[in-house]
Amino acid sequence: MFENLSDRLSGVFDKLTKQGALSEDDVKTALREVRVALLEADVSLPVARDFVAAVQAKATGQAVTKSITPGQQVVKIVHDELEHVLTGDTDPGALKIDNPPAPILMVGLQGSGKTTTTAKLAKRLKEREGKRVLMASLDTNRPAAMEQLAILGTQIGVDTLPIVKGETPVQIAKRAKTAASLGGYDVYMLDTAGRLHIDAELIAQAAAVRDVANPRETLLVVDGLTGQDAVNVAQEFDDKIGVTGVVLTRMDGDGRGGAALSMRAITGKPIRFVGLGEKMDAIETFEPSRIAGRILG
Ligand code: GDP
Repeated sequence: MFENLSDRLSGVFDKLTKQGALSEDDVKTALREVRVALLEADVSLPVARDFVAAVQAKATGQAVTKSITPGQQVVKIVHDELEHVLTGDTDPGALKIDNPPAPILMVGLQGSGKTTTTAKLAKRLKEREGKRVLMASLDTNRPAAMEQLAILGTQIGVDTLPIVKGETPVQIAKRAKTAASLGGYDVYMLDTAGRLHIDAELIAQAAAVRDVANPRETLLVVDGLTGQDAVNVAQEFDDKIGVTGVVLTRMDGDGRGGAALSMRAITGKPIRFVGLGEKMDAIETFEPSRIAGRILG
């Protein structure tokens, strides 16, 4: 589907004579290809431009290693820079869950994979860290979403807060907190309501829940296939609610993962996990080198 960047760069460099160092012109020619590859991978234009400028500064004048071709060398510089930009300060998989019961707030648009991700993370915390987890759905507009979480809970052996009709999301959050304290849970996860688009009511509701729950982590779930839209959604949620990390779902799809780079460059928020399918085990800690490889193709 996409032309592999390494092949494309080799083609460019085959035409050039071998030199001791990467000349400015060589690098410029190669970086034009890199820019196209980034845009094809759905990286936004300003991010691709900044990225290419950073690589240009690093690559120009660099001695060409004997064992690899100049094309391979540029690919390596690009790969390292991608990894550098994508790597955050914190360990993506280490959720802050000391001081039990620790609240984790899950936010995102409807259909992003929020409920599925809530259950996947609960399963992970239970199995990998031996944590007792309680999940609660706050989606009072959609009874089916509440039931979906309960069904997933049964499937993975994680408790869900019993559904009580007529409560507001804030009341459910308070009840979850009490139930988690009394029940000796380590973590309670609040699966907030999603909408198809961000609107004032959605944000007001999530903010009200955040204020009563005081979450240790606020994870934004976004569909990794939605490219620039995913970045806009992340920026808006972060401005209005404040998020501690992003989960990119549908990374099992055939997208090239460029949203990850734009996400990191524009919002500055770390990507913590990636969703890789519908099954409850289909989630992994975010690995910058893997995404870098995928963006390069
Ligand atoms: P919500 O409305 O945000 O809570 O979304 P759901 O959790 O209900 O997910 C919507 C659909 O996306 C469901 O069919 C999920 O199985 C599916 N889904 C969620 N995460 C992933 C993922 O990482 N990969 C794939 N292929 N499907 C996913």
